[in-house]
Amino acid sequence: MNLPGLYIHIPFCRTKCPYCHFYSTTDLAAVDLVIPAIVREMELYAHEFPTFDTVYIGGGTPSLLTIQQLEMILAGVRRHFPLAPETEITIEVNPADGDPGWYRSLRRLGFNRLHLGVQSFSDEALAFLGRRHRARDAFAALDNTLRAGFDNFGIDLIYGIPGQDRPSWRESLACGVSFLPPHLSAYQLAIEAETPFCHSYRRGSFDIPGEDGSLAFFLETAAYLESEGYEHYEVSNYAANPARKSRHNQKYWDHTPYLGIGPGAHSFQDGRRWWNHRSIEGYVHDLAAGKPPVAGEETLSREELRLETLFMGLRTARGIDIAAFRRKFGEDLPRVRRAIIQPLMDGGFILVRDGRISPTRRGLAVADQLALAF
Ligand code: SF4
Repeated sequence: MNLPGLYIHIPFCRTKCPYCHFYSTTDLAAVDLVIPAIVREMELYAHEFPTFDTVYIGGGTPSLLTIQQLEMILAGVRRHFPLAPETEITIEVNPADGDPGWYRSLRRLGFNRLHLGVQSFSDEALAFLGRRHRARDAFAALDNTLRAGFDNFGIDLIYGIPGQDRPSWRESLACGVSFLPPHLSAYQLAIEAETPFCHSYRRGSFDIPGEDGSLAFFLETAAYLESEGYEHYEVSNYAANPARKSRHNQKYWDHTPYLGIGPGAHSFQDGRRWWNHRSIEGYVHDLAAGKPPVAGEETLSREELRLETLFMGLRTARGIDIAAFRRKFGEDLPRVRRAIIQPLMDGGFILVRDGRISPTRRGLAVADQLALAF
């Protein structure tokens, strides 16, 4: 049984990027209210989870916090939860933030993995995305990361940005690779409901690549990164070696329990999923009253768990463990779903071998449709 993971959501950003649907506010006056509330929330869960082996501070923009604020949070983690030796402790960093001393202090606090939201090395693309930073900030952030001695860090990049052609995407990728990051994530720009981008897109202010264009970006990305030695281990994620896969994110994909702390954070344990208030007021109010700041919850039925196992499994290169699936859901996939599996194998979308059903590169490109076929 894998150990659970701890996620801490920092719901603040200096400015809102118009494509983003994550919960955050630009009202930074509330930072000093939320940090003690986060520590109080940890106290409420102190005995409900066994040892964690990953801690992930995400957001929002955790890198707008000072070292003292981050120290308070990590002190709360260590006070209230046992951590396994070699726990992966990650923080998301916006390249607009932090000076060399701040990066060095992160190491002193015990962070051993950085996740840098570079998104692009093109100033034009960054301006379109409404990001606070420019390419020179991304270079400086990577330089600071390396100088501070982080040997485990990841870079996020986005493709399918209006105005971005395949050569300019390739340039951003190559730029990222030149820093030898142990981990790379390449996401397609998604138009999320209720975001400013969604409204502009509906008005026809810009266009994004269609199905064929997206597929071409995806395949080119995978082929290029694999030629640079990266393992394509999830639809959007690449690792330089098995030890550098995101240990934390893998928990989301295989139903390992995780505890989410902070406004808007989600948690999962024993088939139950619950989520916190997406409002600072509601979050702080509940914690001041001594109760968990939970806004809602659901218990997944066996069928929902089965479907999620298929969906998430087929988004990873490892795919689905046939014996584990049979033990959990009483279904022998190769036998019961033969009529579905055979054409997918013939079409080059999946492989059945070594006791697993795994997507090929082509299969990863259409992973969600694959799961629907089952
Ligand atoms: S993309 Fe990141 S920095 Fe931009 S609004 Fe969303 S959470 Fe904040």
